[in-house]
Amino acid sequence: MNILLLLGASLVLMYTIARHRFPLRALVIASALFLVVFTLGGGFSLFWGLLVWAAFLTPALLLGVPGLRLQYLSRPLRARIRKVLPPMSETERAAIEAGSVWWEAELFRGNPDWDKLQGYEPPQLSAEEQAFIDGPVEQLCAMLDDWDITHNRMDLPPEVWIFLKQQRFFGMIIPRRYGGLEFSAYGHSSVVTKIAARSISAGVTVMVPNSLGPAELLLHYGTEAQKDYYLPRLAEGLEIPCFALTGPHAGSDAGAIPDTGVVCMGEHQGEQVLGLRLNWQKRYITLGPVATVIGLAFKVLDPDGLLGTEEELGITCALIPRDTPGIEIGNRHFPLNAAFMNGPNSGKDVFIPMDYIIGGKRNIGKGWRMLVESLSVGRGISLPAVGVAAGKAGARTTGAYARVRKQFNTSIGRFEGVEEALARIGGLAYMMEAGRLLTVSGLDGGEKPSVITAILKCYNTEFMRRVINDSMDVHGGRGICMGPSNYVARAYQTLPIGITVEGANILTRSMIIFGQGAIRCHPFLVREMEAATREDGDVADLAFDQALRGHAEYFLANFCRAVIYGLSGSHAAPAPRADRIAPYYRRLGQMSAAFAVTADLVLMILGGSFKRKEMMSGRFADAFSYMFYTSAVLKNFESAGQPRGDLPLVEWSAKYSLYQVQMALDEILRNFPIKWLGVLLRPLIFPLGLSLRPPNDMLCHRVASMLIRPGEARDRLTAGIYISNDPDDITGCLEDALEKVIAAEPLERRLRHEELEQHGLEDYPQWISRLQKSGRLADDEAEVLLQAHAATTRVVMVDDFRPEQLTSGGQPTKNNSADKKAGKNKTTIKKKSARPRRAKTKNNIAIKKKSAKTGKTAV
Ligand SMILES: Cc1cc2nc3c(=O)[nH]c(=O)nc-3n(C[C@H](O)[C@H](O)[C@H](O)COP(=O)(O)OP(=O)(O)OC[C@H]3O[C@@H](n4cnc5c(N)ncnc54)[C@H](O)[C@@H]3O)c2cc1C
Repeated sequence: MNILLLLGASLVLMYTIARHRFPLRALVIASALFLVVFTLGGGFSLFWGLLVWAAFLTPALLLGVPGLRLQYLSRPLRARIRKVLPPMSETERAAIEAGSVWWEAELFRGNPDWDKLQGYEPPQLSAEEQAFIDGPVEQLCAMLDDWDITHNRMDLPPEVWIFLKQQRFFGMIIPRRYGGLEFSAYGHSSVVTKIAARSISAGVTVMVPNSLGPAELLLHYGTEAQKDYYLPRLAEGLEIPCFALTGPHAGSDAGAIPDTGVVCMGEHQGEQVLGLRLNWQKRYITLGPVATVIGLAFKVLDPDGLLGTEEELGITCALIPRDTPGIEIGNRHFPLNAAFMNGPNSGKDVFIPMDYIIGGKRNIGKGWRMLVESLSVGRGISLPAVGVAAGKAGARTTGAYARVRKQFNTSIGRFEGVEEALARIGGLAYMMEAGRLLTVSGLDGGEKPSVITAILKCYNTEFMRRVINDSMDVHGGRGICMGPSNYVARAYQTLPIGITVEGANILTRSMIIFGQGAIRCHPFLVREMEAATREDGDVADLAFDQALRGHAEYFLANFCRAVIYGLSGSHAAPAPRADRIAPYYRRLGQMSAAFAVTADLVLMILGGSFKRKEMMSGRFADAFSYMFYTSAVLKNFESAGQPRGDLPLVEWSAKYSLYQVQMALDEILRNFPIKWLGVLLRPLIFPLGLSLRPPNDMLCHRVASMLIRPGEARDRLTAGIYISNDPDDITGCLEDALEKVIAAEPLERRLRHEELEQHGLEDYPQWISRLQKSGRLADDEAEVLLQAHAATTRVVMVDDFRPEQLTSGGQPTKNNSADKKAGKNKTTIKKKSARPRRAKTKNNIAIKKKSAKTGKTAV
């Protein structure tokens, strides 16, 4: 009875701490009062009394009594941390300090404030942005034939280059006063989504000048003269920029670039001026082969002391006209059959005046900070948008194909195995979009949430990989055989590019997300670290003590939350609403508290050596990121007006994400740095066991069904990508076939029911004609079936090539169907090798007529 009373009182106290934050001293006093009353009331035997009081008094006195805490805890702890804290390099410090802290901090700190989440304004396109997307972007998409671009030309057609420049696609982030479009992050990302869903090569070409590069750097750090000169030219496409950081010996560790700029006097425009003599070797530089101005990162050295006493002045960024003597633009790389321009470049003793440095001489040595700050915005826009493009296009096309393609007399999309893949495609597409929308709302609200942008870049591109892999599987051989009518294979080929650039994903997941998150989001860690490294003895001790006190309160509150929310199956956690979606908010609150406690303990145990524990860090990144996606999904559902039709997607995404959070935490506990503590912690934060489950079969079925039939939810999920209504375009012919196949299904069912089957020797039209003649099918019914059959055949056919077309020594042929259609490229190599053929079948009368104009590609 007494034990139960004590337990009950402890739970009430823990619940109170979980839901309301109290100062440490008040907690100690309240607990002490309770124990006194309990002891005086005869609640304990002597043995238990001693045990409970000892267990209470030791931490209570050490933490709750300031003098004791300072003397016996804070001071020795500070001294120890001081000794073991690894030194932080300038490059690490810049990366960690870049950007701002936003919504992710709420999730990290174990007690997300749902009012804050609900208060974020959903992003909206301005009238100009909408008009641009409906106008020039739509026009551009119609001009893009990805097979022609990637197979025949290995470049965008000249008219597309001209159109991009004329319409100022390269100036989306440049303010109007410089002639740019001045789009919001949402507008920018929506443009990239639409183009990338049509052609990755075009998408990357548009993305790069608007992402981390000269324009972005100039806007934030350039001198007025540099801005006035370059920004209008960049907006108009008179200058094509690239940004060159990576080299053969410095990839992920970009801070280690060996490229140098030595301070010296040199000749510029006939005069002797102070400047830099540059030597560099770069590779993988997007737009490098066609760039007219090169943004370059290098390390400045001043061996002759022309600028001062320091010899190594650090990473610096400059803008260098391509025709400056000494620059060599190399050949092109061949990145996974994508046709965007990419290649190496180098410079030998290239002299530049100081005013080529972005921001001028005062910005010598500030290049690294400039780059990571720009990255903390840019990586949240372009590549995540490419992921969204893949998700939306994958959901739209794979869903349609799975309905149209029949095996065993059934649409393959109705088989449970395929449904599982379709559900993943739909759910991940929804998650990517939700993540994008929440992130751009932060960016447009003036935030630079560097941890969120790292999450979005890393996980949207990872989800893209899963979506495209699933799309490939569902398409079977149709996805494998390449040609103008294949809309998945190029996306499959090129997806590692998104995984690798702007922070390769392994590194971002296992080093950056949690490492940076912990330092940026933890409310006390940085204060403790700073206090630990301070030199001013007693003052530093006091500062450390204050931080430690806050940290203890923070930990205790999270611990109580984790236990109470866990014990109540998350029912004790707050939710901003009381409906079907509320449990997901509660579960997320529970996971957030569990995450905060686990993260705190691991950081306390490992300290600075955590840096080397990348597997652990990767699991924390998973948990953290999936929490972010869960919150984004819930937010997105609310922002969209809670459409009932979206519920399967919302529930699939929330269940999937929360399950991943739970499993990541489980793995962390299994690999806890102090084994016994992990074992002890498990029943405290998962008192009901691992109770979260992934989406069940019924939910997967509901999501898959949504993808294989036209409808509002499918349209909402895939809004913002280019869908042609040209029946000669593969996206258009898929939509056409979907409608026709659905219209024919009741008739097919009837024929099956009446056992009116096709005879072995007759082809499809002959069969239909026989049924018509025998009065079993009306003329209009026959027409519906014939149309569906013809449309299906068009969709399932793949291209084939004459052998010489495939053995042209890797040389692109210039005479594909699209060119012929447009009457272009008259200088074809051989008239005969004009275009790939599509295999003929017995029944493809309608196909034969149209197959010459195979569609353009999507995704
Ligand atoms: C198509 C393409 C376009 C590009 N465009 C540009 C451009 O315009 N400008 C530019 O400057 N650069 C560009 N890059 C370079 C790109 O940013 C680098 O490829 C990227 O930084 C990774 O460097 P790396 O390829 O040398 O891989 P590496 O650094 O060799 O890394 C290889 C693998 O090791 C992992 N890894 C490395 N260190 C760690 C670590 N500490 N912990 C965990 N994992 C780690 C990485 O995640 C990666 O998976 C481009 C690259 C490509 C492929």
